[in-house]
Amino acid sequence: MIDEEGLPAHGLPAERVLDGIRALRSGDRPTHGGRLFAYVYDPAVPGLDELTAAAHAESAHVNGLDPTAFPSLLAMENALVGAAAQLLGGGPGTTAPDVVGSVTSGGTESLILAVKAARDAHPEITEPRIVMPVTAHAAFVKAGHYLRVAVDMVPVSAETLRPDPAAMAAAIRPETVLVVASAPGYAHGVIDPVTEIAAVAADAGVRCHVDACFGGWALPWLRRLGEPVPAFDFAVPGVTSISVDLHKYAYTPKGVSILLHRDPELRKTQYFAHADWPGYTMINSVIASTRSGGPIAAAYATLRHLGEDGYLRLAAVTRDAMNELADVIRAAGGLRLVAEPESTVICFTVTDPELDLFVLVDELAARGWHTQPQLAYAGLPRTVHLTLTASVAPVVGKFGPDLADAVAATRAAGPVKLPAELLALARSLTPEGLTPDLVAGLAAGLGLGLGEAADAGAEPVPARMAVVNTLLEEVPAALQERLLVEFVGLLQRPTWSRD
Ligand SMILES: *Cc1c(COP(=O)(O)O)cnc(C)c1O
Repeated sequence: MIDEEGLPAHGLPAERVLDGIRALRSGDRPTHGGRLFAYVYDPAVPGLDELTAAAHAESAHVNGLDPTAFPSLLAMENALVGAAAQLLGGGPGTTAPDVVGSVTSGGTESLILAVKAARDAHPEITEPRIVMPVTAHAAFVKAGHYLRVAVDMVPVSAETLRPDPAAMAAAIRPETVLVVASAPGYAHGVIDPVTEIAAVAADAGVRCHVDACFGGWALPWLRRLGEPVPAFDFAVPGVTSISVDLHKYAYTPKGVSILLHRDPELRKTQYFAHADWPGYTMINSVIASTRSGGPIAAAYATLRHLGEDGYLRLAAVTRDAMNELADVIRAAGGLRLVAEPESTVICFTVTDPELDLFVLVDELAARGWHTQPQLAYAGLPRTVHLTLTASVAPVVGKFGPDLADAVAATRAAGPVKLPAELLALARSLTPEGLTPDLVAGLAAGLGLGLGEAADAGAEPVPARMAVVNTLLEEVPAALQERLLVEFVGLLQRPTWSRD
């Protein structure tokens, strides 16, 4: 019996409360064990969870709102920023000795702040814009949406999945405040030509942000191991800011990313200060005001516990597992890597139209392997994304046989054929004309237990997602977005403790 009630009439003993959380957690995908290739980053280091939980507890009630009231937090933040800056080509003795930075809650916040800092450096530009490859993270579009900054997208080559720097240069206008490159892009794990992109930005006098949210804490170790990692950090002239998520390859608990700027002047417009009200004078470096010290202390503990030697070892383990897994994909028959692995991502598609990639994703899930399907987009094929971490190494040998099995089952099942009336319904929809009834009809047709159906006990997300993914791929992006908003809106409904 799972208690979902938030506020019981009578308080419960601690053990009972924890049992309730554990019961809820048992329905989640596994965060440890190396079989979930997205969302989680697991180094499989014994004792690390206990250490970070204790560190989090030490600082959970400390407030990052005021660095002078809690110097412990300021010291830990400065240590994290220093470590990130030195890993990424900054600090004493480098060509970027004045690098500064801030600790944020995640990659999205780091990117929003990079865009804000760039925008606010140019108050004279009334309609600011950014230039990025289509493969740059969706969080830049979110930043543009929040901050009213227009986004100019540059296509990538279907072969290399990289943008042409000349096309990036051509997209820069007088209103452009920021040019973006990724190291690597999340979807395919491909590193953009950072040197060339930063050069065209510098030529135009525009800031250049390198989104190393994913790779910033993995690529430097791979380089030290001798892998051919291209230049992407502050060693590259023209790079003005870099983001790196500690809650990815620094293997810290969620809620910690770093935004670095080449010098303090570039960071100034990131801050928000306000003295024009009767309350305390406010100065915030990041979006949140009150912030828990918990994630920061947990990250600090993780870095200190693992150390450089620990991260090097984890990178070597991850690289070896990745090479093994890439060979398995190459040998599977009917599958193709969309790019040679150059960071810690494996991304593949099908070469055989009889092999339905979305069905394969379901077949792998049925065998306990949770991969991430990505829809076809603008001439790029649908793909499967695998985020590799050190935790994959112990189980990588089991993947090959399961993949072979899943491929055979996928062939036997054949490609998804959407029921004609479902397809007709989906094609008749427009973002403006979407009503709750239409959404409910579509959800029912897809076997999703949303709204009424949820009350009847159906699962919110069916075990098989191939039909849902196929349908989403059939409709334009604007409609996909509206449908997703409606579906999640149906999931996010309050739990009432009284009828
Ligand atoms: C994960 C990621 C982000 C967004 O980070 P969140 O921590 O999920 O907000 C941005 N860019 C890249 C390249 C990423 O991999």
